[in-house]
Amino acid sequence: MIDFIGLRIDVDTVRGYKNGVIPLLNLLKRLNIKASFFIPTGYDTPFRTLPRFLKERGFPRRVFKLRKSFYYKILSSEDLALRKIIRQIRYDGHELNLHGYRHFDWQLQLGSWTQRRVEKEMHHAIENFKSLTGSLPRSFAAPGWVAKKEVFLAEENFSFDYCSDTRGISPFYPIIGNRLIGTLQIPVTLPTLDELIILGDPKNLLNIDVRGDDVYCAHAEFDGMRYIRIFELFLEKNLQKGYRFIPLYDMIRYLVKIPSSHITQRNIPGRTALVACQMRQQIANSKQKTGSL
Ligand SMILES: [Zn+2]
Repeated sequence: MIDFIGLRIDVDTVRGYKNGVIPLLNLLKRLNIKASFFIPTGYDTPFRTLPRFLKERGFPRRVFKLRKSFYYKILSSEDLALRKIIRQIRYDGHELNLHGYRHFDWQLQLGSWTQRRVEKEMHHAIENFKSLTGSLPRSFAAPGWVAKKEVFLAEENFSFDYCSDTRGISPFYPIIGNRLIGTLQIPVTLPTLDELIILGDPKNLLNIDVRGDDVYCAHAEFDGMRYIRIFELFLEKNLQKGYRFIPLYDMIRYLVKIPSSHITQRNIPGRTALVACQMRQQIANSKQKTGSL
């Protein structure tokens, strides 16, 4: 039996950095769990969400339900408090990776970006990551799982060990057109707490029947703040069942035959934007590990 669950934690806003990360670090320390944190490293403002608010069906309801997380401020890499929190994530032994440059810009505008624009955004994000942490990220996760072919193509140029831009069923190599992408995708396989809030009951997180090699994505703004007790119960319940929670990078060593899959854009219950999803049909190939290209 595969007995591990990949644990990813996204920090999307300054509010999440300042109020959600430390409680999460304390919880993970108490339960002796290591996770993969994904952080954006650029500026963002709430005003950028306004065009989406006006255009998108269902978005006003989502904002209303999740309104506390929409108090964005400008993220500044000069903010010493933020640097301290980011250092603490590493100090506690967690994996630290990249979650874009301007999180909400990416979600709203990626559709119109060229390959060059995508690469520029990623480049800025990586440069800021380097300045914040002193090292390069080994992974990238597209904000909001909003990703198109230009993203997967760009990622190959940055030599990430793996990326996590999709929702899906298991790790895979993306097929874009006729091309097999050499960057391993580790998709999130379980619903997130903010989706369950939108769907009506965050406690449903405790009813999810996980299986070994699932990947859960927590958010500092939800799982680390108001709903931390539900997240804690979710972790405890699955630890009691015999599962271990591990960072996404640590999953790679357990992968034997990695299939390749096409990617499609889908609506996911509890989300308003289209999300990049692994297609169900998987194609066996000879790749054994990331880096084998
Ligand atoms: Zn995010």
